[in-house]
Amino acid sequence: MPEIVIIGAGISGAAAACRLARAGHDVLLLDRYAPAAMASGWTLAGVRCSGRHPAELPLAQAAVTEWQTLHEDLGADLFYRREGNLRLARTPDEVAVIRDMVADQTAAGLELSFIEGKDVQEIAPAVSPSVLAASWCPGDGHADPHASVAAFIEAAVRAGAQTSWGEEVTGLDVEHGRITGVTTTTRSIPCERVILAAGVFADKLLAPLGLSLPYLLRVVTVVRSEPLPERILAPVIGVANADCAGRQEIGGQWRASTGVGPWDGNYDDSTGKPEIRPTLASVRDVIDRFGTVIPAFSSARIQSVWTGIIDTTPDALPVLDTPQAVEGLAVGAGFSGHGFCLGPVTGRILAALATGDPVDHDLAPFRLARFEGWNGRAEALTLHG
Ligand SMILES: Cc1cc2nc3c(=O)[nH]c(=O)nc-3n(C[C@H](O)[C@H](O)[C@H](O)COP(=O)(O)OP(=O)(O)OC[C@H]3O[C@@H](n4cnc5c(N)ncnc54)[C@H](O)[C@@H]3O)c2cc1C
Repeated sequence: MPEIVIIGAGISGAAAACRLARAGHDVLLLDRYAPAAMASGWTLAGVRCSGRHPAELPLAQAAVTEWQTLHEDLGADLFYRREGNLRLARTPDEVAVIRDMVADQTAAGLELSFIEGKDVQEIAPAVSPSVLAASWCPGDGHADPHASVAAFIEAAVRAGAQTSWGEEVTGLDVEHGRITGVTTTTRSIPCERVILAAGVFADKLLAPLGLSLPYLLRVVTVVRSEPLPERILAPVIGVANADCAGRQEIGGQWRASTGVGPWDGNYDDSTGKPEIRPTLASVRDVIDRFGTVIPAFSSARIQSVWTGIIDTTPDALPVLDTPQAVEGLAVGAGFSGHGFCLGPVTGRILAALATGDPVDHDLAPFRLARFEGWNGRAEALTLHG
């Protein structure tokens, strides 16, 4: 019988399992599908502080610090590279947006600069000369998502964590306001504490407890190319209005996406993981938009395409909390398209919340209760990538 059940083997749950197992806790990490089967596999895996909300910036800064030595800690190559982030302005209106963002973030203490004209190609020759300006954050970077999640899980297992894949949690068991276990598709598992890190499905397990996590679920199409013979782009690329993003992986593949679009709620998981087939129009959208700012992208050969789901909360900030109504429950969800970078820190926070240990960060902006009575739509702009 585990002491703590962690629901979801994305980067959040995997990192929490690693920290808890290493601290000597008896942990079971469960996933309905498999590790990184959802957002942590669909992601662009940008690791950035730039473009963050001020409330989230300290978490991102701590995460970027941790990413730099995480491969040593986990004993695995995470393909992390600190090669910077360029957020591009393609029109005069976007130049104003980027200029304001740089001013705000510089004031918040981030090393970030505003660059114009040929200075953009000085940093990244692959960027089209049609780009007018950009923010440049040299401390940002990227990592390989599947390798990173696997490394956390392998470290957790080495420290004694148990895992179970293909097992869906169908309900949280609560008696007298306290977690007593979880019910899955195959069994009942008694436990003292639960970490809910179930990504876009987290709300389904909270709703029966009377807890509401309002997010708008939208889709993003991602195109991954075959490897180019050489790497011609090191930084991660975003744009001012977030209608595309992308990067070139260490192995030479492009990984680029659209902005967010509507989702009808349908998916197919008959292959053992959830899939939404991208529309041809969305694939064309990636090629048009990303290909306009990185011309070499359009001539690469497509290796795979997929649709990812993004969970945007009303303020585009996550929930990292232990809701008062249910003792023994810690929630990490609603990362609004930028939770991969935070993973190492999210894992530490969720582990501390589950055990009652002190947390090194101010979690007031991430309380679930901030959405009490919310009945609107989540419209905050979310910058993925
Ligand atoms: C296209 C795209 C691009 C992105 N780009 C970036 C980026 O560049 N940088 C960045 O920082 N972030 C990015 N993000 C966001 C980031 O990927 C996510 O915020 C992050 O991966 C969330 O991790 P997680 O572990 O919380 O959730 P997930 O990775 O979604 O993991 C949740 C897991 O829970 C499991 N699960 C769900 N319900 C149940 C259940 N009932 N029982 C058991 N298991 C269950 C699922 O199978 C899944 O494996 C992007 C996201 C997308 C979709």
